[in-house]
Amino acid sequence: MSGTILVQNLHAGPSVYTDEAGNRKIPYEWGESGHPDGTDYQEVPEDLTKQPPFRKAVSRGIFRLIDENTDQRFMDQGQRWQDQRSAVFAATESVIDRTSERSMAAVPCIGPGPQGQPCGAGVILTGTSKNQPPLCQSHKHLATTYAPVVDENGEERWVRATMAGRNQVD
Ligand SMILES: [Zn+2]
Repeated sequence: MSGTILVQNLHAGPSVYTDEAGNRKIPYEWGESGHPDGTDYQEVPEDLTKQPPFRKAVSRGIFRLIDENTDQRFMDQGQRWQDQRSAVFAATESVIDRTSERSMAAVPCIGPGPQGQPCGAGVILTGTSKNQPPLCQSHKHLATTYAPVVDENGEERWVRATMAGRNQVD
């Protein structure tokens, strides 16, 4: 019997992997990547990480195996990769995560761009600027026209007041 391996969920949402070897059905659950409580890390039996479906999930970038003997350089590479994935997720969902423990995140500018699309220029949010809408240098002056709203999933989005309510003056 081998030991356990720490596995990190790199997926933007929760992940579940069910160990079905030998007719056992043991579900392992991970919280979303970057979860403040660290539930995106879970120890699993080493044999589980050798199962083909699990290997596939690793090669697709859903899970990352963490060898505790791994040197710091490797860990840093993984972190950079995760940050890139987080940026992509933010770009897709336009979600601003105020509660995140991450000190820095790159998100796309939500200012008005061509053809009614968001501007999309990369904006670095730091701890202090997280409570402001992500706007690039050329759209910063519009900050006061955006208001945070919480959608039905409990996620916060920035909505431009002139679009949300017609009674607002641009
Ligand atoms: Zn912009």
